[in-house]
Amino acid sequence: MNASLLEKLAQEYDPRTGTLPGAQASQRHLIDLRGSFANEAAYDAAARQGNPLLYSVSMVQPASGDGDLHYGLGVLLPGRVGSEYYFTRGHFHVWRDAAEVYIGLRGSGCMLLEGERTGESHLVPLSAHSIVYVPGHTAHRTINTGTEPLIYFGICPAKSGHDYGTIARQNFRKVVVEKDGQPTLMDRVEFVNALHR
Ligand code: ZN
Repeated sequence: MNASLLEKLAQEYDPRTGTLPGAQASQRHLIDLRGSFANEAAYDAAARQGNPLLYSVSMVQPASGDGDLHYGLGVLLPGRVGSEYYFTRGHFHVWRDAAEVYIGLRGSGCMLLEGERTGESHLVPLSAHSIVYVPGHTAHRTINTGTEPLIYFGICPAKSGHDYGTIARQNFRKVVVEKDGQPTLMDRVEFVNALHR
């Protein structure tokens, strides 16, 4: 077996730091999530303070045939914009039928799932030792509600593709905010209306 094939078959990762040697990590900072947070005043105030790193994802794409899989190791930092916890932009898969499995390695948080056809929202735990199954036709966003980095694997069909545009235009219908010290799922419109009351 040659060395390059062996590299595709076996990887080591660090569950404490979320690093995956050899994988290219793409980073998303606060400015990359402009328009994503519901509280625009809190976002503008945070952006005036700086442009912190929110998350990074290291993707591994061993092969991209019909039956192949891609996987990524995500590190989502703890923090909030106003009362909204840091989150990933969130996406549908271009190939809408494609499902995905997330495996939590460290930290505590959740995933916000929203069915494209049903419009139904589900908030499910994603923490160390938990597994989330994201069905096809479902927008998914990862949210760190804890105090340490939330580190997780995501594994999906190689031909899934990422559709960020749909979420960028319409966003999720729900937000996850800190309320009385607890992560709380709220309707986005109600949350925004309450800000202006
Ligand atoms: Zn996905």
